[in-house]
Amino acid sequence: MIIVLRPDATKEQIEHIVKKVESLGLKTMVSQGVERTIIGVIGKEDILQVQPLEIYPGVEKVMPVLAPYKLVSREFKPTDTIIEVKGVSIGSEKIVVMAGPCSIERYDLLLETARKVKSAGASILRGGAFKPRTSPYSFQGLGEEGLKYLKDVAEKVGMVTVTEIMDPRDLPLVERYADIIQIGARNMQNFNLLKEVGLSRKPVLLKRGMMSTIKELLMSAEYILSNGNFNVILCERGIRTFEESTRFTLDVSAVPVIKQLSHLPVIVDPSHAAGKWGLVPPLAQAAVAAGCDGLIVEVHPNPEEALSDGIQQLLPERFSEMMESLRKIAQAVGRKI
Ligand code: PEP
Ligand code: MN
Repeated sequence: MIIVLRPDATKEQIEHIVKKVESLGLKTMVSQGVERTIIGVIGKEDILQVQPLEIYPGVEKVMPVLAPYKLVSREFKPTDTIIEVKGVSIGSEKIVVMAGPCSIERYDLLLETARKVKSAGASILRGGAFKPRTSPYSFQGLGEEGLKYLKDVAEKVGMVTVTEIMDPRDLPLVERYADIIQIGARNMQNFNLLKEVGLSRKPVLLKRGMMSTIKELLMSAEYILSNGNFNVILCERGIRTFEESTRFTLDVSAVPVIKQLSHLPVIVDPSHAAGKWGLVPPLAQAAVAAGCDGLIVEVHPNPEEALSDGIQQLLPERFSEMMESLRKIAQAVGRKI
């Protein structure tokens, strides 16, 4: 449920209500808007029937949240969530760009990629150390060695890092090396993994499952928020349709739909949707035009030799050109990149 406060509610009144609600064993989330403050309440709300909140000074009205995803919903928190990671803001006016190879392969390759994507305007370095491969015989990632390269390179170059976790048992390891923890499309409904990253203090990048609806994506995010981690970034990365020209069909409409339903930042992965490098720039342009808060793009200095997803990885020079084109589109929609 949501407690809407009067515009003249004082700080003391708000603190008093929060204390009261929490003393009943419920969780709260305070959202300070320009005009008024809203307190979201989560938990077994039946108790509030005997302790009606309308009687507290400062309360204007108490309303139920109708959506099945509560903490994630815009009803619960009308203002956009901005996630701060080591000086990089995700969800603000500036569109944040995450770029790097599909897999972390070699230290020198990662360093070269990081330097190039950073100079083109990316602030977050991506790279997988645990790879979800369709075939057990394909390259599975370097594991901890890869995580070490990622941290070391990012520190050297001055970037924030994002990397995928597949197994809840690896959480302490991934937390030690990475700034943002990625849950891949194939694990979007791995509920034990979601609960575990919900207990983490690191921001989570949650990718939409290739066969999941927007509602299912939001319910998965709810698992993370309801376990205490409110720093969740949602990612549209293409869904399965009957179309075969692309690896997946980028659901561009997911961007404005999610922005309406949720306060969480939404980013787009044009690389895994396209499956071909030539389609990555136009899809990225469409994503920026649709209002995304960020992009995650695969870049490799030598895609021919890449150990995974070579066909869709952009050369650094092409990435740079793409960034130039995105600047104009961002400006047209009132954003920066
Ligand atoms: C990735 O980003 O490395 C990845 C495997 O993407 P997805 O989970 O979207 O397939
Ligand atoms: Mn990939």
